[in-house]
Parts: sequence; C-alpha cells; structure tokens
Amino acid sequence: MQQFDIIIIGSGIGGLVCANLLGLEGYRVCVLEKNRQTGGALQTYVRDRVIFDSAVHYIGGLDKGQNLYQIFKYLGLIDKLKLRKMDPDAFDMILIDGDDREYPLAQGYENFMEKLGRMFPGEEASIRTYCETIRSVCSRFPLYNLRSGGAYSEKADVLEISAKQFIESVTSHPKLQAVLGGNNILYAGQGEKTPLYIHALILNSYIESSWKCVDGASQIAKWLARNIRQCDGEVRCNAEVKEIVVQEGRVSHVRLEGGAILKASNFISNLHPAKTLELLDSPVIRPAYRSRINHLENSISCFSLNLVLKKGSLKYFSHNYYWQRPGFLWKMEQYNADNWPLGYALFMSPSSRGGEFAEAMTILAYMRYEEVKPWENTVNTVSHPAQRGDEYESFKRKKTAILMDLLEKKFPGLRSMVLSSYAATPLSFRDYTGSKEGSIYGILKDCRDPVKTLIAPHTRLPNFYFTGQNLNLHGILGASITALATCNALLGHENIIEKIRNA
Ligand SMILES: Cc1cc2nc3c(=O)[nH]c(=O)nc-3n(C[C@H](O)[C@H](O)[C@H](O)COP(=O)(O)OP(=O)(O)OC[C@H]3O[C@@H](n4cnc5c(N)ncnc54)[C@H](O)[C@@H]3O)c2cc1C
Repeated sequence: MQQFDIIIIGSGIGGLVCANLLGLEGYRVCVLEKNRQTGGALQTYVRDRVIFDSAVHYIGGLDKGQNLYQIFKYLGLIDKLKLRKMDPDAFDMILIDGDDREYPLAQGYENFMEKLGRMFPGEEASIRTYCETIRSVCSRFPLYNLRSGGAYSEKADVLEISAKQFIESVTSHPKLQAVLGGNNILYAGQGEKTPLYIHALILNSYIESSWKCVDGASQIAKWLARNIRQCDGEVRCNAEVKEIVVQEGRVSHVRLEGGAILKASNFISNLHPAKTLELLDSPVIRPAYRSRINHLENSISCFSLNLVLKKGSLKYFSHNYYWQRPGFLWKMEQYNADNWPLGYALFMSPSSRGGEFAEAMTILAYMRYEEVKPWENTVNTVSHPAQRGDEYESFKRKKTAILMDLLEKKFPGLRSMVLSSYAATPLSFRDYTGSKEGSIYGILKDCRDPVKTLIAPHTRLPNFYFTGQNLNLHGILGASITALATCNALLGHENIIEKIRNA
C-alpha cells in the first residue's frame, strides 16, 4: 500500500494548483484523476486537426504584477504558457438583438471608461461610478489581492447586494444596464441571486487584462502536472476514487476503481462537495451538513457548438461576443422551447499556425439538464466511449440549426464557411468534468443568503479539505485563489501568500 503526505482527488485547476503549491512546500502529493486527460474544465480535444477548448476560452489578471500573473509566476508557469493578449479596446463585445451596434468592454479602467463613454454620451459619470465601485468591492477580498488576513466584516456589507441591483443603481439608462451586465454568462448571472461581488471579482480581472491560450488551455494542466512530478509528486490519470474511508475520526485512505488503496496523512477533494460526500460515509459529517450541501442550487449547464471553419473564410477577431435578447438578460436560464436561446457567448481560439483567418469558433448557450434527461443513463467519455443514440443526435442537430439561424444574422453566410460542426450538451460536461448535471460553474452563489452558498475549505474531519470552483469563486483565477485558501487551511498559516507576492 502506497503512502503519501497529501492525496488530492481530481485534477481540475484547483486540485493541480493545490498539489503544486504543497509540493513546493516539501510535501509528497498524489493527484488522482478519473479521466485519461488531466485538467477537468481545462481539457481540450481535436477535430479536423483543430484544437477545441472544452470550457476555458479566456483568462483575466495575467498582466505583470496582477493576481493570477503572480500565482503563475510563483509556480513557474508564466514564461512557459503560450498566451495572447486580447484586443485592448474590446475583450468582449456586447450585442443586443435588434441593435446593430457592438458595445465594447475594453481593457484598462481608463480605456474601459473612454470606450463605453463614447457609446453612451452623458453617462460618463455613471460609468466612472461603476468602475470605482467594482474596484472598491474587489479591494475587500484579501486573497484576491494576495493579502493575508482580512476580517469577514471587511466584506460583509457587499455580500448581500445583487449585481443587477447594483448596475441599476448606477445608471437608469436601460441599454447601458444591458451592456454592463452583458457578459453575465461568465458567471451564470441571475437577477435575484447573483451577488455584486461575483460580478466585480470576475469583471475586474478581465478589465485589468484579458488573455487567450494559444492552442488551448490544457497546456496549463500539462505544465502544472510536470511541476508536481518535479517536486517528487505523482499525477495519476484513469484513477477514479470510489470511496473515501474514515477510521477513528480521520480519513485514512481512498479506494480506487479496481480496488487499489492509497494512504496519506491529509486529503483534498477537488470535486463538487455533494459528489465528495457521496464517496464519504462517516457519522462525523453531520446529516444537517450533508443536507445543506445536497440542497444547494448549482449553476445551469450549457450547449456548446464547435465549428471548424473552412480555410480563409472568416477573419480572426481577438474579442468575444455576448449576444442577448432584450428583457431577458438576468433570466436567460428561463428560456422555453419557442425562445431558446435568450443569449449566447461566442469565442474564437488562437492557433500557433497564426494567420489572419480563424480556424474555428465556439458558441455557448444555456441548456437545462432536464432537456437531456432522456439520455442521462448513457455515458460517453474518452475511456468509455458509448453512443447516446439517434434521437440524441437528432436533438443536437435541431439545437445546432436554431443556433446557426441566429448566428447567420451576425455572420451572414456562416453556414457556407463551416467545414464541420460538433455539439456538446450538459451530458458531455457531466461526463468530462464530473460536475453535477453538467453545471458550468458549480454551486450558485446567492446574495440573499451569501454565507450558505460559500463553502469553507476545512471540514469536520481534521485531515480532509475541499478545493475548487464550488467554494468561493469559479474560473481559472477563482479556482487558483481558492486553492491558495485550501493550502492555507491545511498548513495552518498564510506564508505562501507572501512568497507569491514576492515571486
Ligand atoms: C463551458 C464552460 C466555460 C468556461 N469558460 C471559462 C473561461 O473562459 N475562463 C475561465 O477562467 N473559466 C471558465 N470556466 C470555468 C472554469 O473552467 C472552472 O471554474 C474551473 O476550471 C473549475 O476547476 P475546478 O478545479 O473546480 O475543477 P474541475 O475542472 O471541475 O475538475 C474536477 C476534476 O475532478 C475529476 N473527478 C471527478 N470525480 C472524480 C473521482 N471520483 N475521482 C477522481 N477524479 C474525479 C474530474 O474528472 C475533473 O477532472 C468555464 C467553465 C465551463 C464549464
């Protein structure tokens, strides 16, 4: 039986960053991943020689000295990653149905204010107030700013404000409101629930700087895995944890599919907390805690359409598009069969082959799990390929056709530019990342009861911790910062923060 200092279940960005940080502290770590590929939502796949990201399309905070830059620098990643900065004058373009204009969200706060001010003359003061508040909210989150300490009271008064309520308090201009919340697919925004702080932490990172990974985001996972091995750690793929075993009030070992047993002094789960608790049968975890975790709402899932484009057919653009149907911005998840989709996000991914033309594009639109429930008992992963059947294929074709009709309005003739297309549904996300019902960002944060939806990294088991997008904040930045919180909880001190700041 093998013994490690720390076993980490799941190789998403959260699990890998924890493993790398703890490896650098001298611990012997072992990361266990159920899939053939590491990275969770960082995974990529290839169709017609084009690399597609399964999830991550752009990353914020990577300019010199910014929060994610410092973390990646400390981990020795920053000079290895193939990154490309997005259009400084528009990382996102907001599109509103029935309006031909493209509303830019630019990088750098002064540039952001100037570019948006030009589109909304007379609203300059509102836009400035928006920017100042976003920065002020972000300043109350110590780890986000790579600071130690910080009392709960520092942020308590912003946790209960909704993003929608905040934007509406800044301006009464309906179109400016629609633009400021226009990329809320980034955090699965819901009017009543989504906290201002989630909007602020995410938007701030992209306004500070926005980047794309050249040839896909899986390079981040590959480099992290290499680093972990260099610290004498292990990253094992095709290693699904089936049971987390508790003895005498502590986790003693995990049992893998196939029966192998691995022991460690400490354990971290990178899985959704509800999924983790399914693997962990101990009275130390109280029924009330289990019930709370199991009843938390998860963010919606999505339909993802990946198009391989014919050579030389469409120019590459280095911004994303977010389209919305007016009146539905904060309730896009409430679509019906007649009005789907109420919004979409469109991304192009840069390739090292370069050139002025795009090779591919990806379009995401919300999709509720109930739509694919008829096929939920089918599983389709690289290691367990299975067909979901003709009806499922026909369902995907219908959804693709609806999306293509909508896209043709923005890109006339798009159908003729497409060489091939591949669609993923909530079932694909469920099977590839292990997320509950294919939820995009895990546990939905709710400003009406913020504490209930924030999950602490420590548990009642003294040597068992959580990490990943479900705890504090999702995204590559959010899960990396959460990994830092998990390591602080496990180590019992915050020394790593200073090391990262000084990297
Ligand atoms: C469609 C989509 C688009 C997104 N776009 C962006 C974006 O553009 N920018 C951005 O920053 N973020 C984006 N995100 C969010 C971001 O990708 C996630 O928040 C982040 O990657 C989640 O990381 P994680 O560490 O929580 O774990 P995950 O990536 O969820 O990984 C968990 C891992 O655990 C493994 N696992 C599950 N069960 C077991 C088991 N029993 N045993 C062993 N292993 C197991 C899974 O296979 C998986 O590899 C997007 C997400 C989605 C879904």
